[in-house]
Amino acid sequence: MNFADTEIILSVMQQNGFTSTSNIQSADLIFLNTCSIRENAEQKVRNRLEHLRGLKKKNPDIKIGVLGCMAERLKTKLIDEEKVVDLVVGPDAYRDLPNLLGEVDEGQKAINVFLSREETYADIEPVRLNSNGISAFISIMRGCDNMCSFCVVPYTRGRERSRDASSILNEAKDLFNKGFKEVTLLGQNVDSYKWKDESNGVVVNFAQLLSSVADINPQLRVRFTTSHPKDMTDEVLKTMAAHPNICKNIHLPAQSGNSAVLDRMNRTYDREWYLERIASIKRILGDDCSITTDTIAGFCGETEAEHQDTLSLMDIVQYDYAYMFAYSERPNTPAAKKLKDDVSEEVKKRRLQEIIQLQSKHSFERNKLAIGKTHEVLIEGFSKRSEDYLQGRNSQNKVVVFPKGQYEKGQYVEVLITDCTAGTLLGKSIN
Ligand code: SAH
Ligand code: SF4
Repeated sequence: MNFADTEIILSVMQQNGFTSTSNIQSADLIFLNTCSIRENAEQKVRNRLEHLRGLKKKNPDIKIGVLGCMAERLKTKLIDEEKVVDLVVGPDAYRDLPNLLGEVDEGQKAINVFLSREETYADIEPVRLNSNGISAFISIMRGCDNMCSFCVVPYTRGRERSRDASSILNEAKDLFNKGFKEVTLLGQNVDSYKWKDESNGVVVNFAQLLSSVADINPQLRVRFTTSHPKDMTDEVLKTMAAHPNICKNIHLPAQSGNSAVLDRMNRTYDREWYLERIASIKRILGDDCSITTDTIAGFCGETEAEHQDTLSLMDIVQYDYAYMFAYSERPNTPAAKKLKDDVSEEVKKRRLQEIIQLQSKHSFERNKLAIGKTHEVLIEGFSKRSEDYLQGRNSQNKVVVFPKGQYEKGQYVEVLITDCTAGTLLGKSIN
């Protein structure tokens, strides 16, 4: 999400005569686009600011801006605490950047952390950053109206709002015309996407949006993230089944496998509901669809038995991949206000380690199932290790590495999988 936002920021800046550089020494303006989701994300930014302090000492004319969720969460406090910061701008205020820079030029500190109910940056064409020219993100909504008790997002990114469907379609068409072959539709809860065209009263839901993007061209792959288990509909799953170019991967974060923990997290579904959604994926998409998750270890009050339920859920679902975290209390969230962060750091770490170990076993086992099968791979470029090999992804979002042959970036190629690790499929192209 921040990556996509940075592309919007770059666009706003370019329209106002700024250019970007990859050499920090030659920059006279430095923006950090920040994340508040866990404490260590914020700590990284604090460390980076420490480093920038040195740079600014040598060159006092450099201006430094903190953008994104940390700006929104800390507001003026950030300017008070980090003297090196000139500019603090929240996620809904990027159009105001040129103005704010005007204030900075006059020698003031500038801040805009106004959260909007409407801003979706629908009309801004993102400037693609570090692009491979093949895959791009498209933000389809902003903010979040769920109140998961552990989560800071509703406070830093504001109310949920969906972006004009026609602007999303235009952006996807434009990318395809420029040679891109894959778009990922982004939102905190894509299943609650809803856009009403005021001119004719037609309402577009997520399944319909997905279908329209997929209809642009069969050569354009479509991915999306994140699906919320409480909202993911069979209509979306059926739309995936009906379009070969909608990639068969669902990121369905469980967070925990225990219903009491899920209740304390205010996820508004329980273990049974979650497993029913998994059964629905298998029913409609078969075993062809990869499933990934997010889990949090050591949430408030989590007992050993509750932790075991997360492991047993993982055993049942057999996730292809997972993003796994130790609970990190965020100030002013419902959990911070009402629940005790009472699982010790040591126990959190141990439980997280158990989750990571189990997941790596499952990832390896799931990958082994691909051996002997042929997968369509969209080539993204050379493999990390050698220019004699190419790498790309299959529909299930797994990295596939194979000898280069005559193939090039951006092509689709059929690859027979011959071997794997927990993280990568290895194979050879077949004609
Ligand atoms: N909207 C997405 C999640 C976005 S945040 C969803 O609802 O699934 C990405 C992930 O960060 C979450 O799924 C959660 O696993 C993790 N996360 C969020 N807040 C956290 C916290 N306070 N401590 C640890 N992990 C957290
Ligand atoms: Fe956070 Fe929950 Fe919204 Fe995801 S759905 S962004 S976890 S509040």
